[in-house]
Amino acid sequence: MARTRRPVVPGWFTGGGDTDGGGPGAENFRLLGTRCGACGAVFFPRVDSFCRNPGCAGTELMEVPLSRRGTVWSYTDGRYRPPPPYVSDPEVPWQPYTLVAVELAAERMVVLGQAAPGVTVADLRVGMPVEVVPGVLGEDAETVWTTWWWRPVPQDDRRRA
Ligand SMILES: [Zn+2]
Repeated sequence: MARTRRPVVPGWFTGGGDTDGGGPGAENFRLLGTRCGACGAVFFPRVDSFCRNPGCAGTELMEVPLSRRGTVWSYTDGRYRPPPPYVSDPEVPWQPYTLVAVELAAERMVVLGQAAPGVTVADLRVGMPVEVVPGVLGEDAETVWTTWWWRPVPQDDRRRA
């Protein structure tokens, strides 16, 4: 039976791209934030009811796709299982993963995310261009829980840009 792909958090990213790690359609995949109609500030994770800018009384927030590419602001790796309330199955061996903080210039914000599988801290450096791709956080019998991953922009693309 085919499993349903579901976002781990609804409304944080677009559907686009049913292939993990950036196959066909991955270029349409975007994180979704919201922009305040009054002051123009962009938020991710999204806020929908009121502007978080303390100097702004705006309440009209529109959904906006965030930039697909940014630059590495910082990174680390998770070699140990986080304590509760982090949910993980203690029966399953802990898989180390790389966490990346990515600066989006246009939005003037930093967005955290896991690096795509196979990307280690040795592959990253501050200022390196990275792009968002569809990813998978986990799966169970019925559902594949989708998320976003960051991965270095392929060298060919960098030269073209
Ligand atoms: Zn505002």
